[in-house]
Amino acid sequence: MEDSTQLIADVREQMLYLQELGVELTSAVFEAETRNERREAGVTRQETRAEMPEQVMSVIPKSTPTLLSERPAGSLRESMPSLKGRLEPRRIAPPVAEVVPLPPEPQITETVKAETPQIIEMPEPTETIEQIRAEIGHDCTRCKLSTLGRKQVVNSVGNFDAELMFVGEAPGADEDEKGEPFVGRAGQLLTDIIEKGLGIPRKDVFIGNINRCRPPGNRAPEQDESIVCKPFLQREIAVVRPRVIVVLGATAAQNLLETKVPIGKLRGHFHDYRGTKVMPTFHPAYLLRDPHKKREVWEDMKMVRDLLAKN
Ligand code: SF4
Repeated sequence: MEDSTQLIADVREQMLYLQELGVELTSAVFEAETRNERREAGVTRQETRAEMPEQVMSVIPKSTPTLLSERPAGSLRESMPSLKGRLEPRRIAPPVAEVVPLPPEPQITETVKAETPQIIEMPEPTETIEQIRAEIGHDCTRCKLSTLGRKQVVNSVGNFDAELMFVGEAPGADEDEKGEPFVGRAGQLLTDIIEKGLGIPRKDVFIGNINRCRPPGNRAPEQDESIVCKPFLQREIAVVRPRVIVVLGATAAQNLLETKVPIGKLRGHFHDYRGTKVMPTFHPAYLLRDPHKKREVWEDMKMVRDLLAKN
């Protein structure tokens, strides 16, 4: 009896589905119920199919199993999404709401904090250049450059009250030998830029480097080396308080301005370092290898000269 009730329910489902397809089957429902009764009486599937009206036969594929009760309960409904809304609730499993986990709250890490742009004021000077040098000492061992063949610490030179400051990346062989930044051929070219180009005696500007010891093989200072040594230069900048800083070469410019922008894009514009104008330009050693770049350096120096000429 229970099978019969299931079969009738399945036939009703089929009728509803066929009605949706535009087939008029009012009488077929009763015929199907009759056939169901005949099946219970032993009438074969083929006999039942042969008695179906032509309309029904045209929409039921021959391969479709005729006895719906042979399917698992509810399987037909699942194949007919349009019926789901009107069948009895007890036979339709309510849709299970998918639990979508919320994305985790963004964590403020030390890295993110470090990359967040900050407006840093130039600190008021509370020390002298001499005190800074005394703190560095003659035999500084704060970074590994002290163990890689340097001859001496090369401190900044020039006017402690200069309006114009030049900053390079680190001493080379000549500077390491003499204990002064920007000597040798590259140093002479920088002197020409300062004195012949800008018309300022070299002794009236302040010249220093991010790192004070010579890296081996004239390589650029590595990050762990710059992090340790740069604060001394920053403290000197705070003491001198120049109106303009010219940074020479990509390494020094990117380090002071804390950027990865290439020097070719940095130069030609003033940037800001704690309220002080900064003009990046090519390193004199680079100009010795590619003299055609002198014209661009001169363009940069004219901007510096014009800015210094203003009150
Ligand atoms: S580069 Fe600077 S921090 Fe490193 S040993 Fe020389 S003076 Fe000290």
